[in-house]
Amino acid sequence: MTLELTPPPSKPISNPIEKPSILEQSLDAMSIWLSGRGHPRYRAKQILAWVYHRRAASFADMTDLPKALRLELEEAFDFFRSTTVETQDSEDGTQKLLLQLHDGGRIECVLLRDGPRRSICVSSQVGCAMGCVFCASGLDGVDRNLTRAEILEQMLKLQRLLPPDERLSHIVMMGMGEPLANLPRVLDALAVAKDPEIGLGISPRRITISTVGIPASIDKLAEDRSPYHLAISLHAPNDLLRSQLVPVNKKIGIEPILAAADRYFQATGRRLTFEYVLLKDLNDSPECARELVQLLRGRTAMLNVIPYNPVPGLPYETPSPDAIYEFRRTLVDGGINVMFRQRKGNDIQAACGQLRRLRQNEPFAGPSLVTLEP
Ligand code: SAH
Repeated sequence: MTLELTPPPSKPISNPIEKPSILEQSLDAMSIWLSGRGHPRYRAKQILAWVYHRRAASFADMTDLPKALRLELEEAFDFFRSTTVETQDSEDGTQKLLLQLHDGGRIECVLLRDGPRRSICVSSQVGCAMGCVFCASGLDGVDRNLTRAEILEQMLKLQRLLPPDERLSHIVMMGMGEPLANLPRVLDALAVAKDPEIGLGISPRRITISTVGIPASIDKLAEDRSPYHLAISLHAPNDLLRSQLVPVNKKIGIEPILAAADRYFQATGRRLTFEYVLLKDLNDSPECARELVQLLRGRTAMLNVIPYNPVPGLPYETPSPDAIYEFRRTLVDGGINVMFRQRKGNDIQAACGQLRRLRQNEPFAGPSLVTLEP
């Protein structure tokens, strides 16, 4: 069976792009561009260092370049293209950005502070086609894939929220969208994210790609030979329940996903993570926990249980602390390596797609900073 998971062609772009983005340029491409205009090729490294290391916000910031070159760069390339519509600051240090893209599409990305970790959660698509019933991102389907530049721009805007002595340490592709449905662009952006010389220098072991589970794309990811951490959003121990919660499962099924995950483990040696959003009275029963033990036993894997983060307007609820405890006990007793993720940014709309949805019907009057008081 062929699986049609690519988004439809983009809607007509209201604000067409005239210039290429600097974030699409490789070191080679920059060197060629420079030498074609009579500039020394070594400037390419200098320019990209300003973009990825020295946190410039514009070409004008690149003060050790000749002024004429700065002007030429400005004429030839776009720097950041999105507008930050809103910044939400949580008490626990989590910050979320709502970005408006050049064509009006909106995406979210998040910076999380956890001890020494500075993790970012990044979107891969505008909307999502997977249709997980409890998730805000997919309620209106998918508009389009993000480009390499749009994925990198999220990383760079979040990086610029950090003080100069702090660096991004982890990336999770867990924002809006299904990263494996946009794999070429995601891999292009991550190649820059992991590049220590002209990129962000984040080890691929600290980069997580979270997926609903598309077997053929998991195999392609394994071919990339970068030891990215793979997280599979399982959410149910059997196909009957999973197909209700994750409708795309009807076309795939748990077994082929687990088989692809096992191949990924064999190819990369990376321990897998399975994610399980715990929804009251739907997938939180002791029976579900026992079935999960059967399903995952024997795999070198970690189960990440995430209590549901309620989405306004959706009927799903977070289980009680007692139910969560019971669920956990059954898994631990069954020998499963289980982690209960602490929720971050609870006081802001930090779950996937929530902020975009909240602001959907409000006109955008310009950037604003919303600081939420405790
Ligand atoms: N499409 C990918 C990545 C984006 S979703 C995937 O399915 O993995 C990232 C994770 O957030 C998924 O495990 C998803 O199920 C979870 N998630 C989405 N909405 C949530 C919510 N309201 N509360 C808790 N977790 C949620």
